[in-house]
Amino acid sequence: MVTRMSQLFVRTLRDDPADAEVASHRWLVRAGYIRRVAPGIYSWLPLGLKVMAKVERIIREEMDSIGAQEVRFPALLPREPYQATNRWTEYGPNLFRLQDRKGSDYLLGPTHEEMFTLMVKDLYSSYKDLPLSLYQIQTKYRDEARPRAGLLRGREFVMKDSYSFDIDQAGLQASYDAHRGAYINIFDRLGLTYVIVKANAGAMGGSASEEFLAVLEAGEDTFVRSPGGYAANVEAVQIQSPAAIDASDVPPPSPLPSPNDHTIDTLVARLNAERPRADRAWTGADTLKNVVFMLVAPDGTRTPLVVGLPGDREVDLKRLEAVVGPAEAVPFADADFESYPALVKGFIGPQVLGERSESKVRYLVDPRVVPGTRWVTGANERDLHVVDLVCGRDFTPDGYLDVAEIRAGDPAPDGSGPLELARGIEMGHIFQLGKKYAEALGLKVLDQSGRLTTVTMGSYGVGVSRAVAAVAESTCDEKGLAWPRHLAPFDVLIVATGKDAAVFEAATTLSIELEALGIDVLLDDRPASPGVKFADSEILGIPTVVVVGRGLADGVVEVRDRASGERTTVAVSLAATAVADAIRGD
Ligand code: ATP
Ligand code: MG
Repeated sequence: MVTRMSQLFVRTLRDDPADAEVASHRWLVRAGYIRRVAPGIYSWLPLGLKVMAKVERIIREEMDSIGAQEVRFPALLPREPYQATNRWTEYGPNLFRLQDRKGSDYLLGPTHEEMFTLMVKDLYSSYKDLPLSLYQIQTKYRDEARPRAGLLRGREFVMKDSYSFDIDQAGLQASYDAHRGAYINIFDRLGLTYVIVKANAGAMGGSASEEFLAVLEAGEDTFVRSPGGYAANVEAVQIQSPAAIDASDVPPPSPLPSPNDHTIDTLVARLNAERPRADRAWTGADTLKNVVFMLVAPDGTRTPLVVGLPGDREVDLKRLEAVVGPAEAVPFADADFESYPALVKGFIGPQVLGERSESKVRYLVDPRVVPGTRWVTGANERDLHVVDLVCGRDFTPDGYLDVAEIRAGDPAPDGSGPLELARGIEMGHIFQLGKKYAEALGLKVLDQSGRLTTVTMGSYGVGVSRAVAAVAESTCDEKGLAWPRHLAPFDVLIVATGKDAAVFEAATTLSIELEALGIDVLLDDRPASPGVKFADSEILGIPTVVVVGRGLADGVVEVRDRASGERTTVAVSLAATAVADAIRGD
C-alpha cells in the first residue's frame, strides 16, 4: 500500500526546538520523527519508529547469529535484587525509585544484570546448561543529571542489553569475543565511523571492558588514540610512572615567602624572579598543586580527598569520577575548610596531608610524583610556599591516583606514540563482569566434578534509540536528515507538484508501479506549494525523491538523490524500473 503524505501522521516544523544543541536533535524533531514529552523523554512518531525498527532488526540479526536468545524483562522491578547487589544505593540519584500502593519499593530498570542472573539461577543448575547468552531490546530509565541532545542522552531510552553466562574465564572470554564480533558487524551495518576503545568499567564492576564510540563532535566522550594503535576513553587511560630518582644531593626544603601567590602562574613568575635556575626557567610542571575534593557517597557520607599533581595540569573531573564512583566529587566549600583548619586554602602542602598526618586527610598523588622528585609546593601557611620538597624524603603520599587531564601530544602508555584527542558518542559497551552479580545473588551450577561453582558473567549494551540519533547526526546536512538507504523510513518520496490533476494521477500510477516492484513509497499528494514540498523532501531525508511536475508535459520526471543532491531526468514510462533498479543497485 502506498503511504500518502496527506494521511501520514507527520507535521514538519519550520523552527528549531528551543533546546536543540545538536543537528540530529533539531532535525529529528523538525522532520516529525520524535516529539519531546519532558526533559530526556520522547514520543516516537511513525517515521521515527520505522527507522528504529530497522536498527533493531540489524541488532537482532547479529545477536541471533552468535546464538544469543531474545527475552524480555519488565522495566518496573522490585527493590530486593538491586538491594542484594547494592546497586539500589550505588546507582545514586540516577535511579528512578518508586513505591506501590502498599509502600513496597520498586525501581525502573537502568540495566538488568540482577534480573537475568536470577532468571538463570531459577532455571539452570549444571555446567551442561552453559554457555548461555540472552538479550532483550527494551526500555531503560536513568534519571540523568544532564539529559541532552534529544535521543543521545535520554532519561527513557531503548537499549539492547545482553548477558553471557559461563562456567570459567575461558568461556567468558569466548562469549565476550563473540559479542565483540557481533558489535563490529552491527556498527559496520549502521554505517557509523567508530573506534573501539579501552573503557572504564565504572559502577558496573568487573574488569575487561571496551566501548564502541561513534566518532562525532556532538559526543560527550573524549577518547585518545596513538599512531601505533592505542585507543582508550580518557577515563580509562593509565599513564606510566617514571622511574624513581636519586635525590641524595637535593638540598633540604627551604621556605619561599610568596604573598598573594594563589595561582601557579604567579608562583612560577616569582620563582623565576627570586630563585632563577641555572639550567632552565621554572615552569608549572615544577610545582605540586594539591586540589581538595569532598567525596559524597550515595548514602551521603562525606570524605575529604586531596589530589597532588604537577601544577601545569588540571584534575579531569570525568577521570576522577570514573575512579571514585559511585561517590561524587564536589569542590571543597569554605565551610569544609573551616572543619579542616590544617588545610590552608591556596597554600596546601603535602606535609600535613595523609591518613597518618595531623589532618588525617587522604592524600593521593599523580603517578608522575615518584620518589625522588622535587617540588615547589604549599607550606600550609598563608603566603608561604616551600622549595625542594622531595617525595619519599619529605613527604609520603597514601598512594597514587591517575586523574590528571590527558593532553594531545602526551605519550601513549604503551609507548606507541603521541596521543591525539577526539570526541565520540558511546554506542556500545562490552564488559567482562566476572562473578560480582553471580556471587551477590548466588548463581551457582554444578561443575564437571559435581562441585557447586559460581557462574561468571559478561554484560553487553547497545544504545538503540541513541543509534537512531547517531546515524542521523553523522548523515544529516544543513537542509535536514539524509538517511542511508537501508535505514530510511521509505525508499522513495514521490513529490507531485502543481495543481494539474494529470500530475497527481501520474504520481499515483508511478507509486503503485514502484510498490509492485517491492519499493517502499511515500507519496506527497498534499495540495501544498512546490516550495513547501521541496523543503519537506529535504528535511525528511528519504534517500530518493522523484518529482512529478512540470516535466510531465515533456514526458519526464526528475529523480533527486537526497544525500548528493544529484538530479537526473527520466522518461515517465521508464521511471518505475529505472528508480527500482537504481535502489536495488545501491
Ligand atoms: P554513558 O557513558 O553515555 O552515560 P553508560 O556507560 O552509562 O553510557 P551503559 O550502562 O554502558 O552506558 O549502557 C549501554 C549503552 O546504552 C551505552 O553504550 C549507550 O549506547 C546507551 N545509553 C546509556 N545511557 C543512555 C542514555 N541516557 N540515553 C541513550 N542511550 C544511552
Ligand atoms: Mg558505558
